[in-house]
Amino acid sequence: MGTLPLKVHSFESLGTHEGPGIRLVVFLQGCHLRCLYCHNPDTWHLEGGTFVMPEEILTMLEKERPYFSSGGGLTVSGGEPLIQRHALYDLFSMARKAGFNTALDTNGAILDDATRNLLTETDLVLLDLKDVREEHHKKLTGVSNYVPLAFADYLEKIGKRYWVRHVLVPGYTLQPEHLHLLGRRLAGRKALERLEILPYHTYGVYKYKELGIPYQLSGLQPPGPEQVAEAKQILQQYIPDVRIR
Ligand code: SF4
Repeated sequence: MGTLPLKVHSFESLGTHEGPGIRLVVFLQGCHLRCLYCHNPDTWHLEGGTFVMPEEILTMLEKERPYFSSGGGLTVSGGEPLIQRHALYDLFSMARKAGFNTALDTNGAILDDATRNLLTETDLVLLDLKDVREEHHKKLTGVSNYVPLAFADYLEKIGKRYWVRHVLVPGYTLQPEHLHLLGRRLAGRKALERLEILPYHTYGVYKYKELGIPYQLSGLQPPGPEQVAEAKQILQQYIPDVRIR
């Protein structure tokens, strides 16, 4: 059977923010969550994007290979890459066979046999945990946090290297009681290499206007440096490596 095409939103060559080293970042189309702060609402619907074969992405990777010497490689982000997990398995297994490191940037909201299969070809997972409180998570994303939390537990169970990423949203997740809960939930984990905290920002708000989607956090200001530093301090009580991104 041949390989499956992927529905791609965009590419970023020589990216430095999505995993270790310098990386080719592929943003896939489609996401089933509706995070209030999402800065990529243009990735939500599967109708958009362009079909790209894994072989074409391999060719792009080969061109960037000289830049990957310091631990870089391929990162697939979104949207939510797990929506296309079957096709992504083809890409990741081909990339690894060719000697490229693979990273999956995911919200962890789909955990089935196909996801578990994909993880066998994934070197590093960048797992976005939105809120460890069920009701707050639903309010923020539209879905339960049951599967993303189970996803984190599964990574730990199989010893898969992962980073957790967490967006600090004032009035939502950026609350001491929530940060303590998040810290406690992640404390003592061996496969968790680091926690990245990402201050809420408003860079993608213009896209909502363009798409005619109401932006529900209108007027919310990004957190100040002191609030972010305070959040880092709380989380460091539980996790040794916490970084602000
Ligand atoms: S999971 Fe990511 S792409 Fe999907 S809505 Fe949330 S922030 Fe946006």
